Amino acid sequence: RLLNSRDAELLERAQRVVPNGVWGHMATRAIAPGYPQFFSRSQGCRVWDADGNEYIDFMCAWGPNVLGYRHPEVEAAALARIDQGDIGNGPTDTMVELAELLVDTLDHADWTLFQKNGTDATTVCVTIARAATGRRKILVARGAYHGAVPWCSPSLVGVTTEDRAHLVLFDYNDSASLDAAVEAAGDDLAGILLTAFQHDVGKDQHLPEAAFLAHARAVCDRTGAALILDDVRAGFRLDVRGSWARYGVKPDLAAYSKSIANGWPLAAVAGADRFRDGAGKIFTTGSFWYGSAAMAAAVTTIRILHDSDALAHTEAMGNRLRDGLATISARHGFTLRQTGPVQMPMVLFDADQDLRIGNAFCVAALRRGIYLHPKHNMFLCAAHTAEDIDRALDGADGAFADIVSAGILAA
Ligand code: PMP
Repeated sequence: RLLNSRDAELLERAQRVVPNGVWGHMATRAIAPGYPQFFSRSQGCRVWDADGNEYIDFMCAWGPNVLGYRHPEVEAAALARIDQGDIGNGPTDTMVELAELLVDTLDHADWTLFQKNGTDATTVCVTIARAATGRRKILVARGAYHGAVPWCSPSLVGVTTEDRAHLVLFDYNDSASLDAAVEAAGDDLAGILLTAFQHDVGKDQHLPEAAFLAHARAVCDRTGAALILDDVRAGFRLDVRGSWARYGVKPDLAAYSKSIANGWPLAAVAGADRFRDGAGKIFTTGSFWYGSAAMAAAVTTIRILHDSDALAHTEAMGNRLRDGLATISARHGFTLRQTGPVQMPMVLFDADQDLRIGNAFCVAALRRGIYLHPKHNMFLCAAHTAEDIDRALDGADGAFADIVSAGILAA
């Protein structure tokens, strides 16, 4: 298996004309050697690399794929809009339809604004919080990812201290540390920014504690600051009403993107009435932000999530994968730490600080046609069938055997 000649050739060509060949989180040099970098096709829960090798995919384009790549109804809706022209000098009626649908669907939203990427949406939320409150400090959980522009980028290269001057850090799920940050912000507190659950790279994931969310809500009610939910990664995968609906905690502002349009480029900010004026005052736009094909894709995606058992099915497949991996890994003598929602699993090996075992396992799984990630949370979608999960578990079984025979042993 695994012919990589085309991949290597593309990377070499790209490196001449693109710094490093590829950039950001999808650059495979940042993970284990052996990952294909270039892809040629995606369908359902499968991807094909540039050499035509086929994988059962557990990254889902890092989140956008929620119903299955190239879901026929979503593609038809988007392509019908494209036939009429995707962009013009302003929005089409699809924007109004989508905004109405989001306000009806999300448990916390009275209005929406649209963008393209998750970073656009988190940045717009922060800007609205500051505009509405007239204050500057944004409280951010240590280690959380909110995007790739200077105010929030995980890298400080090319970033000035001033870009980060008004961020105050606290620890997720730690009310005392949140209180200390609130204290430090004083009367300059504009907002508290939280991901749907704690999903930091390379670490065990943690669901939000109900008492912590309630505390954050109470702080914002008391101070007038905005409670901002960054639901970019989890939104429309765990719960179509927004990821905190099950906790009964309503954010003032929330950022969505990734799976909102099943892979078509779209982001949205959804907010409560209290922040409507602030949202109306800021200047926010982008050349492609009114593109209606992605909006049509979102309308169809959200309707399907609403009317079908897609999310319940995805959760069932996540449970099947988690249970299967636990059984198989134990049989081979390894202990896995499987954390977070089963639809967005983080799978880490116990006592594997340098990811020696995790990397070897994922590369062995790749050779068996299973695309996993050694340190980022993975994603399941509605197109994963029980048969796909069982095939993936067979592949994982073989991958465990491969690394044991290569002398990589459980600690
Ligand atoms: N917030 C969270 C929680 C994310 O996971 C991401 C993307 N990984 C972003 C923001 C930024 O989204 P984008 O890459 O689309 O700008």
